[in-house]
Amino acid sequence: MRTRKIPLRKCVACQDMMSKKELIRVVRTPSEEISIDLTGKKAGRGAYLCGKVACFRLAKRSKALDRALKQPVSESIYDELEREFVAVEQQFVESKEMAEE
Ligand SMILES: [Zn+2]
Repeated sequence: MRTRKIPLRKCVACQDMMSKKELIRVVRTPSEEISIDLTGKKAGRGAYLCGKVACFRLAKRSKALDRALKQPVSESIYDELEREFVAVEQQFVESKEMAEE
């Protein structure tokens, strides 16, 4: 284990601070497309959410992504992201478990 300090990011929904690998990044690309970025490397403004659908729904209710991405996010985009989020959640949890082994 390296002793390098782990950079922490804040979940925009529940405001918990966590290491980046425990969070799912939502990115607004320079072409103003909003999508989930599992690589964490896409260019653009990012917002982080814990890898939990519950947190996504909280963000949707509180419009946390609008604030974090500094752009209004329409209901249909939230719906689309939510579907994507549900789809990646399992994959995300599995890759995290693998990384911990
Ligand atoms: Zn959260």
